[in-house]
Amino acid sequence: MTKTIYFDNNATTPIAPEVFEAMTPFLRDFYFNPGSLYAEGEKVAQTLNDCRKTIAAFFDVDSDEIIFTGSATEANNMAIKGVLEANPDRRHIITTSVEHPSVLELCKDLERRGYQVTYLPVDQSGQLDPLDLIDSLRDDTAIVSIMHANNETGVIFPIDKLSKIVKKTDPMIVFHTDATQTVGKLPLVLSEVAPYVDMLSMSGHKIYAPKGVGLLYRKKLVLARPQIIGGHQERGQRAGTENVASIVALTRAFELISKAHQDLDPMAEPALERRLRDSLERFVLNNISGTKINGAKAERLDGTASISFQGIEGEGLIYGLSKEGICCSTGSACSSGNLEPSHVLAAMKLPFEYAHGTLRFSFGRYNTQEDLDKLLEVLPKVVKNLRRLSPYWDDELDQFRADPLK
Ligand code: PMP
Repeated sequence: MTKTIYFDNNATTPIAPEVFEAMTPFLRDFYFNPGSLYAEGEKVAQTLNDCRKTIAAFFDVDSDEIIFTGSATEANNMAIKGVLEANPDRRHIITTSVEHPSVLELCKDLERRGYQVTYLPVDQSGQLDPLDLIDSLRDDTAIVSIMHANNETGVIFPIDKLSKIVKKTDPMIVFHTDATQTVGKLPLVLSEVAPYVDMLSMSGHKIYAPKGVGLLYRKKLVLARPQIIGGHQERGQRAGTENVASIVALTRAFELISKAHQDLDPMAEPALERRLRDSLERFVLNNISGTKINGAKAERLDGTASISFQGIEGEGLIYGLSKEGICCSTGSACSSGNLEPSHVLAAMKLPFEYAHGTLRFSFGRYNTQEDLDKLLEVLPKVVKNLRRLSPYWDDELDQFRADPLK
């Protein structure tokens, strides 16, 4: 059987064995409802409390400011809609043209419901111009939602500076960031690195915890209406019996990140991810013509490579690599199946013949040099085969360009 080589960690990560071990007792033995009054229920409630404290300490925020959700998508919706509903006089939203669909599609829906949205553009390397943000702030702006790092290109936005601009201009505007791709990869002690951020979303399954759990950090002073109404769970902000086992898992995942940071292991991520990513990009640029690294000039996450192969289709590449057991993606997993080029690459004005042939490789904790070696062996062959069939690629012209005197 072909071994699966997994380079799609921005889509989801495997569950860490330590995380799995921590959560199983709560599926098997400690199944009690944390809202129940008998001792077993209270014990589970205490565990939940401890989890909240551990995660709050990770961000250096108050534990009352952590709201557990089912996903980052839910946290993003809760953040944006919650604030808008609590501030009916402010009907303007600012976001970027490269957000995840859980922000972008929500904003489009809000436009249909009469809100006004400014989508900040990015340049060819995927970066924002802070002056565009300054120019777009209005008296009726309710919320600014800017992701911390892009899931397709890994390009990092300076949320520290951007949130400061917003809060210094008008402290009543709420600054939200979708940090789904940066938890565990960039420092997030909020009091130190981004004190002006009011709200932050993330998802467990990007940090080696299971799917179906995430959180929203929301500063106490932010006025917001709950979006899921029912019981009193999460201080009335998100009704529904808590997903205790997954919250325990999420907490363990945070603890593992903190431990890795303390140990400063040079082989640990992100050093490992960066090494693999850089080797891949170097290899591709040196050995496969008609290739481009998207966002290369910007500050980027260590483990994300967005690589365009001129003249071929990303889907064909995925299929060719998948036959060899290698998993990667075109744009984000959420838009795969959709043959339009990604909205992120379109916003970066990447020409059509590159945008269609773009792959995202995202490295993670369990990748090895051997995995990469296999990719480097297979990738040039897959590209060559597809280009042979492509009406958009001329092999003879390519060879002439490479060596005009031959
Ligand atoms: N935001 C970003 C930046 C993401 O990468 C993702 C997951 N691809 C999400 C939000 C949504 O996460 P989930 O599907 O867990 O809700």
